[in-house]
Amino acid sequence: MAPPVAVRHRPFLGGFERCPPTTYADGVTTDETDPICSAKGCTEPAKHQLLWNNPKLHTPDRRKTWLACDEHEEYLRKFLSARGFWKATEPFTQ
Ligand SMILES: [Zn+2]
Repeated sequence: MAPPVAVRHRPFLGGFERCPPTTYADGVTTDETDPICSAKGCTEPAKHQLLWNNPKLHTPDRRKTWLACDEHEEYLRKFLSARGFWKATEPFTQ
């Protein structure tokens, strides 16, 4: 699973006002998550996975994953796209 250093990584906190650091870090920035939506406070089952990469932090072939329900896929995708991090959204199946 994700190494501890990755779990502690919180690269986007300054720009994501709606998600306090603790919740956001625990819910979104790890590769090892329960299969529920990554959006703050959302407990819907994940139906999408957003693949992204921060070129300032990650090698080009690295992919981080956020999970999203139908409602939040667009929201998270726009958040990543605005920063140039979004790579793809794929169906998520357990
Ligand atoms: Zn959601």
